[in-house]
Amino acid sequence: MTECKILDGKKVASEARERIAVIVKEIKESGKVPPGLAVVLVGDNPASKVYVGQKEKACKEVGFESFLHRLPEETTQQELLELVAKLNEDPKVHGILVQLPLPKHLNETEVIEAIRPEKDVDGFHPMNLGKLVAGLPCTVPCTPKGIMYLLEYYGIEIEGKNAVVVGRSNIVGKPVAHLLLQKNATVTICHSRTKNLEAITQEADILVVAAGKPHFITQHMVKKGAVVVDVGINRLESGLVGDVDFDGVRMKASWITPVPGGVGPMTIAMLLQNTLEMYERTL
Ligand code: NDP
Repeated sequence: MTECKILDGKKVASEARERIAVIVKEIKESGKVPPGLAVVLVGDNPASKVYVGQKEKACKEVGFESFLHRLPEETTQQELLELVAKLNEDPKVHGILVQLPLPKHLNETEVIEAIRPEKDVDGFHPMNLGKLVAGLPCTVPCTPKGIMYLLEYYGIEIEGKNAVVVGRSNIVGKPVAHLLLQKNATVTICHSRTKNLEAITQEADILVVAAGKPHFITQHMVKKGAVVVDVGINRLESGLVGDVDFDGVRMKASWITPVPGGVGPMTIAMLLQNTLEMYERTL
C-alpha cells in the first residue's frame, strides 16, 4: 500500500499569509493606505462569530485595515442595505464581506447583490459567479479558490481526471466544479437526489466533498489512489469533523485534507488574497 499524503492546508495557508504580509509591509512603507476589509456580522450565530473572529485576526496579522460592523439580530433589511451602500463608497474599504447565514428575516440575495462586484470579496455576487462560469476574470469564492490553490501547490494533476464534487451550493460545490472544469477535469456534481452516489464517487480520481454531513464518505466509496478534499466542518461533541471518514479513507486515498487543518485555513488565506487583489485593482 502506498502511503496517503496530507494536503496540509495549515502549512500552505500560513505560507500564503506570510507572502501577503510582506507585500502589505511594502505598501505601507511606500506611504500608501493599506488594503481594507469590512466584515459585517448580524446577530449572534455562534459559528459566525468564530469565523468573523478568525477573519479579523488574520486581517490584522497581515497588516490589513479591518473594519468590523457588529449589528444586532433585529437589524432591518433597510439598515443593512444602508451600511452596505456606505461601505461601497468608502475608499478605505476594498473588500466587503457579509457573514452568512443572515437572520431569517433578512433577504441574503438582495444584500449580496447590493455589494459592488469590485468589492465582493467572497465572490458571491451573481456578476462574479456568472463570470466564473463564463471563464472570465472575476473574484473567485474563497473556499473553492483555496481548494484549487492547495491542489496546485502539491502538483496534483487535474487535466483529464475524473473529478466528482459532492454538494452543489453556490459557495462551494458549483464554483469548485467550474474551476475543475476550467482545468480540464471531467466533472460530475452530486447532490441529495443523486442515485447510487457511491458508484459515482468510486470513479473519482479527485473527490471534493461539501455535503455538511459528518463522516459521510467512507472507505468503500473511494477509489484506490484518489485525491480526497474534505470541505465539511461539522461540530460534534467530540470536536470538529469533516464530511469524510478520515481514518478509513486515508487507507485508500493517495492524498487527503485533514479536518481541521485542510480547507478551512485555505479559505481564510484566500479571503486575504482576494482583498489584496481587489486593492491592487484600485491602484
Ligand atoms: P450546503 O448545505 O449549502 O450544501 C450541501 C450540499 O450537499 C447540497 O448541495 C446538498 O444537496 C448536498 N447533500 C446533502 N446531503 C447529501 C447526500 N446525502 N448526498 C449527496 N449530496 C448531499 O452546504 P455548503 O456548501 O455551504 O457547505 C458544505 C460543508 O462545507 C458544510 O459542512 C460547511 O460547514 C462546510 N464549509 C466549509 C468551509 C471551509 O472553509 N472549510 C467553507 C464553506 C462551507 P441538495 O442541493 O440536493 O440539497
